[in-house]
Amino acid sequence: MEIQLYNSMSKKTETFTPIHKEAVGMYACGPTVYNYAHIGNLRTYIFEDLLKRLFLTCGYEVRHVMNITDVGHLTGDADDGEDKMVKSSREKKQSVWDIAEFYTKAFFEDTDRLNILRPTVSCKATEHIGDMIALIRTLEEKGYTYEAGGNIYFSIDRFPAYGRLARLDAQDLQAGARIAVDENKRNPHDFVLWFTNSKYENHAMLWDSPWGKGYPGWHIECSAMSMKYLGNHFDIHCGGIDHIPVHHTNEIAQSEAATGETWVNYWIHGEFLILDKGKMSKSSGSFLTLQTLIDEGFDPLDYRYFCLGAHYRSQLKFSFEGLKAASQARRKLFAKVRALKESCDGSPGADDSGKPYADRFLADAADDLNLPKALASVWALLKDDTVSAAGKLNALYRMDAVLGFDLPNLKTETAPAADEEETARIEALLAERREAKAARDFARADEIRDRLAAEGIRIKDTPDATLWEKI
Ligand code: AMP
Ligand code: ZN
Repeated sequence: MEIQLYNSMSKKTETFTPIHKEAVGMYACGPTVYNYAHIGNLRTYIFEDLLKRLFLTCGYEVRHVMNITDVGHLTGDADDGEDKMVKSSREKKQSVWDIAEFYTKAFFEDTDRLNILRPTVSCKATEHIGDMIALIRTLEEKGYTYEAGGNIYFSIDRFPAYGRLARLDAQDLQAGARIAVDENKRNPHDFVLWFTNSKYENHAMLWDSPWGKGYPGWHIECSAMSMKYLGNHFDIHCGGIDHIPVHHTNEIAQSEAATGETWVNYWIHGEFLILDKGKMSKSSGSFLTLQTLIDEGFDPLDYRYFCLGAHYRSQLKFSFEGLKAASQARRKLFAKVRALKESCDGSPGADDSGKPYADRFLADAADDLNLPKALASVWALLKDDTVSAAGKLNALYRMDAVLGFDLPNLKTETAPAADEEETARIEALLAERREAKAARDFARADEIRDRLAAEGIRIKDTPDATLWEKI
């Protein structure tokens, strides 16, 4: 099956051709482990997982590499601000190493709960400082760097193709309008490869280097680690759309300057998840985590289903109403699959009467990952009475290879109905309380709170949602 993908570099949808027959090299920028991932970040990791599963379903092997940023990512992407890890360590009164370990573990717990396949290689920046230093040395030998104020900078004027991905024109590059002024920079778009001169005292993470004790800039880790594990030229690089103008632009400049060859063939970027009130960001503290959704009574896979409802290149607005609709659809799908399994005693055999639906599904998924369209085939199949239960199951299992709900392993017994009913009852009361509050009927809102408290259910209002737990 041919795969079509929109390439942010050419701004065109292209037919995918791998560099090495059958195996796809794929690099995805990973988390900065100073806090939990928010559900916006997780949308990007779900999109990357869908892409990886599409390749696997189409018969490719995938070598998926993801970095763990545990040093060097400053609060501003343009070399300004403080190291996010160091800031978090001070605020939480724990060592940077403990912070990194804790949030790396939390990250993989979240991605596991979302059925996101683990990367083939996940590599920590702090374990690859030597690779970064070697790459900076190469850039230095080739004349792409300069030293100023104690730091080593990449000089974008030495790399004429700079800004191709983001379509930065000469005027953008001159102005550097949105970039904070660092007087050491010859061009405002130049960026730090190695810091020896931290603005902050007692920087906890320091390494020896040919330029003195210091720490790497953020962008160099992705170039160094991707090339270490995937070679100098590989197929796919993905991430969120916010990385186009600075992070990926700088990654390309330093990688291609070092090797003199094209670094990546296909740049695939996912659009943002937004909240009603706008952008979700970790640094502003206004973010929802997967655990928040679970505390609200949702299954992590409800969120996976929610993300399937929008094309990865469209913005997706998060709302609890939308998540609730996704949850209902996801539960209905699971219930249907359980019923189908029961009716064919668990094993559907080789019946392929549902194949046209699975083929349609896969064709849509291979058309630049059009999952919203592909999902329609799931429901059309379920409704088609001419397809046998076994035919439906076989087709659903093929579709699930991309969807990632692990349908073949769904337990046949249904979830305890009592629990679901109880959750629905509490949710209905909370919805009524929200409405009462919106209508300024605080007496009714308090009455509901008290009634739940009497049943041993504690509720907590947050700016985004009402959480509840049994005590
Ligand atoms: P970070 O941990 O900040 O480096 O981000 C991890 C990944 O999440 C990157 O690929 C970002 O581009 C992506 N990302 C950040 N914010 C959002 C958002 N609101 N929606 C979707 N993806 C996001
Ligand atoms: Zn990166």
